[in-house]
Amino acid sequence: MRRKLVVGNWKMHGSHKGNAELLSGITGARPFGCDVAVCVPFPYLSETAVALAGSDVRWGAQDCSAFEQGAYTGEVSVPMLAEFGCRYVIVGHSERRAYHAESDQLVADKAKAALAKGVTPIVCVGETLAQREAGETEAVVKRQLSAVIHTLGHCAGEMVVAYEPVWAIGTGKVASPEQAQAVHAVLRAQLRAAAANADAMTILYGGSVKPDNAAILFGQTDIDGGLIGGAALKATDFVAICRAAG
Ligand code: PEP
Repeated sequence: MRRKLVVGNWKMHGSHKGNAELLSGITGARPFGCDVAVCVPFPYLSETAVALAGSDVRWGAQDCSAFEQGAYTGEVSVPMLAEFGCRYVIVGHSERRAYHAESDQLVADKAKAALAKGVTPIVCVGETLAQREAGETEAVVKRQLSAVIHTLGHCAGEMVVAYEPVWAIGTGKVASPEQAQAVHAVLRAQLRAAAANADAMTILYGGSVKPDNAAILFGQTDIDGGLIGGAALKATDFVAICRAAG
């Protein structure tokens, strides 16, 4: 049986005071019956590492460069993240695909750069509302995942995948458990064709997960936990979601 994973994506939120309260609210609620991580803005990685030291709550970043070093102003490389002890890095979040024009190949290159330094990429895939309504959901997520599988080659089994329907992110419109499970099953089948450990791989659901809908989503066969945005900013909500996972 796969152990569930719940990851908070803080997006561009935080402050020294607020972070300290949030992190102590999370660590104070341990132990959890699932793996738990927070992906924080770059400037807060250091204080997050300090606040979580000695706990089993993991931390990560929300993006990385595909390059190791060089003249890439404003970028942050995976070797830098690895120095902080980052366990995860989110790549291909729909907000980066939309606002920073990130292509499937760039997302795949970032995932490869992460794995090369021992940082687990959380690869986000998901369709827009227009794509869902046009019946393109399966084709879109398969295309996005295929670029990553192809680029990672024999390491594909080491990534975490997150299915995040764009229309459900930050909108309060959650995918029904059946809708989410159907896409997760498609992704699992695609992974089976590429990775021997596909049945042990983690596929998260993200998109308006809240304490009151987490348990039913996480109860679906191929949903192995969640990538949590808005509800990750309030310790009581995030903790309740972690409890729903196990
Ligand atoms: C996200 O940003 O990855 C996300 C799922 O956001 P929310 O939970 O707010 O929909």
